[in-house]
Amino acid sequence: MKILVINSGSSSIKYQLLDMTDESVLAVGLVERIGEEMGHLETKMLPGKPQERKIELKQPIANHHEGMLAAIGSLTDESQGVLQNASEIDAIGHRVVHGGEDFHDSTIITPEVIEALKENIPLAPLHNPANLDGIEVAMELCRDAPQVAVFDTAFHQTMPRRAYMYALPYEYYQKNKVRRYGFHGTSHKYVATETARLLGKPLKECNLITVHLGNGCSITAVENGVSIDTTLGMTPLEGLVMGTRCGDLDPAIHLFLHKQKGMSLEEIDAVLNKESGLKGLCGMNDMRDIHAAADKGDERARLAVEVQTYRCRKYIGAFMAVLGRVDAIVFTAGIGENDTIVRELSLQGLEVLGVRLDQAANDQRSKEPFRISSEDSAVSVFVLPTNEELAIARETLQIVQGT
Ligand code: ADP
Repeated sequence: MKILVINSGSSSIKYQLLDMTDESVLAVGLVERIGEEMGHLETKMLPGKPQERKIELKQPIANHHEGMLAAIGSLTDESQGVLQNASEIDAIGHRVVHGGEDFHDSTIITPEVIEALKENIPLAPLHNPANLDGIEVAMELCRDAPQVAVFDTAFHQTMPRRAYMYALPYEYYQKNKVRRYGFHGTSHKYVATETARLLGKPLKECNLITVHLGNGCSITAVENGVSIDTTLGMTPLEGLVMGTRCGDLDPAIHLFLHKQKGMSLEEIDAVLNKESGLKGLCGMNDMRDIHAAADKGDERARLAVEVQTYRCRKYIGAFMAVLGRVDAIVFTAGIGENDTIVRELSLQGLEVLGVRLDQAANDQRSKEPFRISSEDSAVSVFVLPTNEELAIARETLQIVQGT
């Protein structure tokens, strides 16, 4: 069974083709700068294998239709490709950012599903239309392959109302769907599933805290295998300090900025999403650069690390209180998998809650999961690489086989 995973953004399409007989990657690619003067495509075939090869194209790519045609064209290229023709793709899994309250699980894409996705556009005005573009083009180009939507929000639909309700007038929830949804669900679910495997316990018996620290950051409390709280909210802006997003904020700051600086709501929203977080604090949003600057004595870089890891620690502690018993805390994504300092500072002071770090273990680097808690730690702590494409492919396989 060959599954194509598609993550369609506003000006890019990321894709990965997997052979699910052994979960190996047949190809991985990116079409970017769609709609710009000059577009770019790069597809790597059999990455990491001796037969690795790539196709690179620089040409105008007017829209998602052309982008997807070029992507499939590269996969089926006569000399370099890994497929004879597109009909060898057995199913397509699409990453969809916002499923609102309509989707608790991945689902086969039908006309009704497309309608529901359109209805949820107000909840994710930037992401859902781009995801829909990808879906519509893929359905047109690969008519025989079942298409599955895998939602960033679905895993968190198990949150109880005490966790997802904002304390706002109730009709905002009823009429406008204003509530917390949470994101990164595919990653949190994948990491939780893999951690249960490491613990040798069924997922439905595991209480976990999954810490996803990438460009976007979120922490999820998993009770008996399901999400019961998470730090991202109605949009991916709440909670932790992220690369360019502010995370938690006093909502009265909007009015203050408007009055004091004459900023419009749109300007404020853009600043909170694109100019805040680590970038806002120190001018850089890549943790590697921030550590290098901090090492040279840059106070603002030190401040950024301090604020980010303090917020992380605060939420880990809060979720320990929410869960009571915690089997494991798991770090994942770019920062979580690689940054020994952020992990150490995020766990500092949690000894009182049974979390003990093994310094030497924390200093290792590996592409495989590893434990960073000491032998006498009541709570295990792991580092576990996330793999959202594989997670989407597995979900797609499961849904296709179940129908
Ligand atoms: P995304 O959320 O876009 O999927 P990733 O999970 O790939 O992002 O994380 C990207 C971030 O991870 C980078 O911006 C950088 O801050 C951080 N990162 C990547 N490698 C390292 C490293 N070796 N040490 C510290 N941080 C890293």
